[in-house]
Amino acid sequence: MKEGIHPDYKKSIAKCACGNTFETGSVKEELKVDICSACHPFFTGKQKLVDAGGRVDKFKKKFGL
Ligand SMILES: [Zn+2]
Repeated sequence: MKEGIHPDYKKSIAKCACGNTFETGSVKEELKVDICSACHPFFTGKQKLVDAGGRVDKFKKKFGL
């Protein structure tokens, strides 16, 4: 393998739109992201709760509860 072909892959700080910052690996020193592990529905579980709530509402409407 020749050296100098690949860009340096180093630790960088990623800034999320929610204000959270976290370390990540990138060729850039600073990254801006729209979503992170602190605010992503997949990690927070909020989306799951929202979906479950919607289903309950539909269920209630269907059966007139
Ligand atoms: Zn975030």
